[in-house]
Amino acid sequence: MKLLSVIVPCYNEEENIADFYNELLKTEDFFKQNDVEFEIIYVNDGSKDGTVSEVKKLIEEDNRIHLIDFSRNFGKEAAIYAGLSKAKGDFVVMLDCDLQDPPALLPKMYGYIKNEGYDSVATRRVDRKGEPPIRSFFARRFYSLINKMSKTEIVDGARDFRLMTRQFVDAILSMEEYNRFSKGIFGWVGFKTKWLEYENIERKKGETKWSFWKLFIYALDGITAFSTVPLAVASILGVLFCFLAVVLIIVTIIRKAVFGDPTSGWPSLVCIISLISGVQLFCLGIVGQYLSKTYLEVKKRPIYIIKEEI
Ligand code: UDP
Ligand code: MG
Repeated sequence: MKLLSVIVPCYNEEENIADFYNELLKTEDFFKQNDVEFEIIYVNDGSKDGTVSEVKKLIEEDNRIHLIDFSRNFGKEAAIYAGLSKAKGDFVVMLDCDLQDPPALLPKMYGYIKNEGYDSVATRRVDRKGEPPIRSFFARRFYSLINKMSKTEIVDGARDFRLMTRQFVDAILSMEEYNRFSKGIFGWVGFKTKWLEYENIERKKGETKWSFWKLFIYALDGITAFSTVPLAVASILGVLFCFLAVVLIIVTIIRKAVFGDPTSGWPSLVCIISLISGVQLFCLGIVGQYLSKTYLEVKKRPIYIIKEEI
């Protein structure tokens, strides 16, 4: 018998816990026929609703279910990492609790690993149906930007829904960074990945935990985690402005020598000073971003803290 670990990060998902479980069980027959059994790990990421009691109800009926209960909300990335660390399976899959990642795809995904020798099967949505247009717009810009800046391929529309072999999981676990950006980490480790495409499914119950602002911060985290191009941009801007300054100095000296007008030029001075101080602050901000990430890495804080484990 092989073991398939199913990792489900949950944050305020009380309405979805049982629905997800029932949906997953529909694939049970297929896996039984293939000599694969389940282990289901619900990671409760500091929910404030009845998520934990819903999971405990299921645990009483089914001993294949496990619960990792965080001491507070650490974020989905931490929940994924905790799930992967605890998973014992020969294969591991991560799915969202809200059924936006359909468990019905699992048999097909398993087929690719079993029969075609892939190390992981990932999913991406081909459309952004049901999403506010500005959000889609910025998401597209983000993917095109980060792929220009980073050597690691980060796929547009990629979901965290992914089935992996043990080897692939161990590679991910070996990346112990504190600032985790899974979409980049999956690409970074390499291996052979099969991409499955499907149309976006809207969340059935509850609401999304990602506000526009949270996504924006997440995007910046992704860029700083997988690219150092912004630091180079800061130096290039610095060089350009030095060059400009030299030109301006020469122009000013010549103008003084030829025309001798010492008082004019105040507006242009104001423009130059405000532009350059803006650029300086911008570059300082970029350096600050990397410094703050380095600071957090150096501290070596745990990625998550578990309150209870069943
Ligand atoms: N999630 C989590 N911690 C968080 C935010 C979200 O574990 O801080 C879980 C959430 O319960 C869900 C999955 O991550 O199972 C995806 O979240 P959501 O559906 O809100 O994101 P969206 O699908 O809208 O991108
Ligand atoms: Mg969702």
